[in-house]
Amino acid sequence: MMNLSVTQIQGLKENVAGEVLVPGQDAYESARKIWNAMVDKHPALIVRCAAHLDVVHAVNFARDNGLVLAIRSGGHNIAGSAMCDGGLVIDLSQMKAVSVDPEQRRVSIESGLTLADIDAATQACGLATPVGINSTTGVAGLTLGGGFGWLSRKYGLTIDNLVSAEVVIATGEVLRTSATEHPDLFWALRGGGGNFGVVTHFEFQLHPVGPDVLSGLIVYPIAEAKSVLQQYREFIAQAPDALSVWVVLRKAPPLPFLPDSVHGTGIIALAVFYADDPQQGEPLVEPLRKFGTVLGEHVGVQPYTAWQQAFDPLLTPGARNYWKSHNFSTLDDGLFDVVIQYIDTLPSPQCEIFFAALGGVTSQPSPDSTAYAHRDARFAMNVHGRWDDSADDQRCIDWARDFFEASAPFASGSVYVNFLSADEGDRIRNAYGVNYDRLAQVKRKYDPENLFCTNQNIQPG
Ligand SMILES: Cc1cc2nc3c(=O)[nH]c(=O)nc-3n(C[C@H](O)[C@H](O)[C@H](O)COP(=O)(O)OP(=O)(O)OC[C@H]3O[C@@H](n4cnc5c(N)ncnc54)[C@H](O)[C@@H]3O)c2cc1C
Repeated sequence: MMNLSVTQIQGLKENVAGEVLVPGQDAYESARKIWNAMVDKHPALIVRCAAHLDVVHAVNFARDNGLVLAIRSGGHNIAGSAMCDGGLVIDLSQMKAVSVDPEQRRVSIESGLTLADIDAATQACGLATPVGINSTTGVAGLTLGGGFGWLSRKYGLTIDNLVSAEVVIATGEVLRTSATEHPDLFWALRGGGGNFGVVTHFEFQLHPVGPDVLSGLIVYPIAEAKSVLQQYREFIAQAPDALSVWVVLRKAPPLPFLPDSVHGTGIIALAVFYADDPQQGEPLVEPLRKFGTVLGEHVGVQPYTAWQQAFDPLLTPGARNYWKSHNFSTLDDGLFDVVIQYIDTLPSPQCEIFFAALGGVTSQPSPDSTAYAHRDARFAMNVHGRWDDSADDQRCIDWARDFFEASAPFASGSVYVNFLSADEGDRIRNAYGVNYDRLAQVKRKYDPENLFCTNQNIQPG
């Protein structure tokens, strides 16, 4: 990296409408903090873009000065790829323009939107597009890795609803991409992450959702986990696409609908969401209440936007986090034994193992129709190692790694790119799967010098 002169930095400041933050400023200190407190990187510059031309200037500046470049939108990536040491961060978090076209059922957004922002704008028109389950996540990073949440079994991955995207590539050119404009790049953006340029705008297809939906939690004791998991496996295999049920195993948080005596004890919770008319959903949900001894239940009709934020209190920024993840095409009894064994030895009250149900419409496209290859994944399992004190780092990380190893024999071998931790470079090919080589060719065409390298990196082919 070249040493930057005051004059060079001043030149950049004069070119951009947003802020250029450097070490020593309070705003720099807060801007370099991201969701995962394990990440403590010190970029030379953070360009807080206010307009998409700022992105062009920042890309050109980084390239011309040989700076490592990172891209931050929501700052949620567990691997901390939104930040870099010594380089330039393009921070899009302030770019929050959004416009909904209710007739065409489309939403056009800038890249700084969080899931809460896009849900608020689209739900004002009774519409939504599938995104994730924690409302402070950035739409941009989530989309570029694939994106899934409560609506995905019914309406597909987030990328399956992407209509177009505007990208600043390594030369500083701005390209509009869609099925008919730079289709190779549009293909690569849908699962290939931030490898190809800085996306400044996304346009998504919307669907009628809510505004009220049937959703909530049904909680069973961990002692019944194996039977609950077995019944869940049968249930979800038959469930309609509109019904999504995810499973979380952890220590019970102090939820008001659980008796005090349950707080802090091992539980298995079914998180239930029905995408269509709540009345139709009621009888479909009923069998989930009969899997065993219900410790507590909170399933009812509530605004979609409220359900989209229901898990936020458990996923606040600022904790230390280490994740390991596997995809599964089937759930084996042997896997259930391993899960239960590791829930017995949770290293902190915030750690959890969850299974997201995919399938439904997400499985319909062929693996090479978008860069996201894992259309056969019926479940994404994530070990959320989460704790507060750095003294617990090794213990919690070891627990997550050990569980990951023990559960590997039952997994499909693939992994969701957005769940990879910083030390999982050896799993990058598993994350891009059969599409890696084609992605490498697109990378060579649009970013031959690998300017966009602070990510789950695809080497130019
Ligand atoms: C608590 C939590 C819950 C989650 N739940 C879900 C979920 O339900 N479903 C799901 O699919 N995922 C989920 N994720 C994973 C999430 O999709 C990834 O963490 C994703 O990277 C977050 O995007 P971001 O914009 O917030 O990330 P950032 O950290 O800002 O960016 C991550 C990377 O994405 C790329 N990137 C970001 N913005 C751009 C851009 N504008 N142009 C080009 N590249 C860009 C860059 O490579 C960047 O390094 C969750 C993550 C967390 C922490």
